[in-house]
Amino acid sequence: MIRMIHIQKDGLWKTLSHFEELMHLEGFKKKVDPAKYKFDYAFGFYTETEPVHCGLTNCNHLHNKGVIIKFVNGDVTNIGHICGKKHYSVEFSDSHRSINQSFSDHVNKQTIDEFKRSNPTFINDFKVFEQGVKKHDLYNKCASLIKHGYKNFPVPSPIREKLLSMISTEFTTLEVQKKVKKGYMDDGIVHDPRYSEVRVGEIKGLDFLFEKNRRHILLNDLNESISSISSINEDSDSADLKVAANLCGSIISQVEQHMKVVNKGFDLMKRSNLNQLSEIELDPKEKKQLKRGFAHNPSKIHIKQSKILISLVI
Ligand SMILES: [Zn+2]
Repeated sequence: MIRMIHIQKDGLWKTLSHFEELMHLEGFKKKVDPAKYKFDYAFGFYTETEPVHCGLTNCNHLHNKGVIIKFVNGDVTNIGHICGKKHYSVEFSDSHRSINQSFSDHVNKQTIDEFKRSNPTFINDFKVFEQGVKKHDLYNKCASLIKHGYKNFPVPSPIREKLLSMISTEFTTLEVQKKVKKGYMDDGIVHDPRYSEVRVGEIKGLDFLFEKNRRHILLNDLNESISSISSINEDSDSADLKVAANLCGSIISQVEQHMKVVNKGFDLMKRSNLNQLSEIELDPKEKKQLKRGFAHNPSKIHIKQSKILISLVI
């Protein structure tokens, strides 16, 4: 059991290090006859390693856990947390619940304040990062590799299909079918060309598109999480404080994990990947689609397409 004594005074919480300090509180009484005193409210609680005597004369038991209460006449004592309910029923239970809630709110506020103090630029840094992702349209570009195209530029379907299959098997090595022997005629017999699987290389950052890394969903979660921390103020209710305080413990590692995955997305957009993908066998029309992006003497339309392609796969 962890030793702790917390009391609330004038809306502020104070932690006492020794039980004896309670006795210095104004109006503290070691013994109180519950029949003679009217309960007013609970204003603190304790857990002690060594059990302490209950302040109620008709109990007089030792309790490890208890509540510090005030009577209407201003007297103060400590009682076991179940004794109050026994003697003062609902009014005690309500007051006990409310003091516990008030302490949880206090602890949660401290956690959030401490988080903001220790990470003063975190919220702004995240916003800048998020704007960068939006500006580069990263999610749409990456998604276009497995959909049909980006803006007006189509992704050739053999490339798309190859990527889809690599994504579903979580395999990042690009292997393509290459003709290793031409077809030929011999003595009137047709010999088909022979194909073999050839390893081209690694598609860097492809794991950005793996199911487990579908971070666009997480980004929404992160946005909500971060705004829930940043929107905490004096009027926030207990439930919001609790959610925000819990997030303070995990949000940094969540954001780091997210950034790691997003950087994979930027890797996926690099030109070296395009060069490797161009090894996939394409029909002449598809080759044209792909080459258009690299036209040496492009028309205005080609410049536009080449920009899109480059922005798609660089
Ligand atoms: Zn008691």
